[in-house]
Amino acid sequence: MERETAAIHFGQSPDKETGARAEPIYMTSAYVFRDAAEAAGRFSLSEPGNIYTRLTNPNSSSLEARLAAIEGGSAAITAASGMAAISYAVLALTNPGDEIVSADNLYGGTYELFHLTLPNFGRTVKFVKSSDLEALENAITEKTRAVYFEAVGNPKLDVPDFEAVAKIAHRAGIPFIVDNTVGIGLVRPLEHGADIVVLSATKYANGHGTALGGAVIEKGDFPWDNGKFPKFTEPDPAYGGLRHYQAFGSSVVSTSIRVSLMRDLGAALSPFNAWLISQGLETLYLRTERHAENAKTVALYLKNHPKVAWVNYPGLPDSPSSKNVEKYLDGKGGAILTFGMKGGYDAAVSVQNNVRLISLLANIGDAKTLIIHPASTTHQQLTPEEQETTGVTADTLRLSVGLENPKDIIADLEQAFSRI
Ligand code: PLP
Repeated sequence: MERETAAIHFGQSPDKETGARAEPIYMTSAYVFRDAAEAAGRFSLSEPGNIYTRLTNPNSSSLEARLAAIEGGSAAITAASGMAAISYAVLALTNPGDEIVSADNLYGGTYELFHLTLPNFGRTVKFVKSSDLEALENAITEKTRAVYFEAVGNPKLDVPDFEAVAKIAHRAGIPFIVDNTVGIGLVRPLEHGADIVVLSATKYANGHGTALGGAVIEKGDFPWDNGKFPKFTEPDPAYGGLRHYQAFGSSVVSTSIRVSLMRDLGAALSPFNAWLISQGLETLYLRTERHAENAKTVALYLKNHPKVAWVNYPGLPDSPSSKNVEKYLDGKGGAILTFGMKGGYDAAVSVQNNVRLISLLANIGDAKTLIIHPASTTHQQLTPEEQETTGVTADTLRLSVGLENPKDIIADLEQAFSRI
């Protein structure tokens, strides 16, 4: 199946009992066992099947199948949010004392997780400049268990050379994790050397700003028995000495998260949110095209505006990432752009206050156009140096360009600029 078709059909067929063509919503906490033997088999993992919605639910399962197909992976697990998915992926691969090497251009929430929270769990994250592959290679030590990048840095909007990063990670015997929140529908990192994709399904996967969700998707061919991942290869006392890699093979990452971290930490996706995200995915590729067209139109308008100092859009030829956008994203720059106001901080804040159609809020990936001034909001807690490495300056505004007619988006910006 081609990916556009998979996004509509994968993971769901007409309901056997009722004939319903669209997916029913399974709002249930638990599932009836046929008998005691089936119950015992499910708890020991010797029989597949539902036990409790913290572990599996038909709506999550169909979303997982659909996401795995879209990303070209072997298996997936969904979680209550993108942050939960990222946390589980990182915790699954590491033990206390282990390290991760990450690009420094991360979404602010991930940066705080890596910088402040993971050290409390005994994991250290070393940050390297997202464009400096030599620094990346030098930062990897015997203790490193993963390399972490965003497919399109949010809000720096730079695109890494996936294949070059993957080579460095694989030379060190460690997996390459890519956050594809912004890139879903534009790029399949698993086809360019990544081993695991994590994403916030809250954004472009859902597409309508209606539900939080996240996912971990694995490619399925990483050699986890190279001595660096004992949690996957050593006997698990929680399941009578089961060795996860031996038992689960190409779905070891997602299954291991499900039967250990999801069981114990419990940030499971609600069935209703899973359903909303599956619905959203049906139009992913249509939306991706229109978002990118609209964003390019708005970027070109901003570039020629006398009150705008600079524009950063990956889909323009002057973007520092244009080579990688051509190579990996089929030349499409996605829906997000940043721009700086000549009037600096005050002018940027004033634009936020004067837009009418465009919404001032902290999100991306909605059908509606959204704006935010990161320095005073999402990136407020970072030092000026940290802000700069994540692509934020005092004059920066981030626009998540929606699916409206671009004439209306531009008209709203024009009237907001005229009030400065
Ligand atoms: N990753 C990226 C790139 C994001 O932009 C976000 C949220 O904005 C997240 C992860 C976190 O996702 P969630 O808000 O679903 O927890």
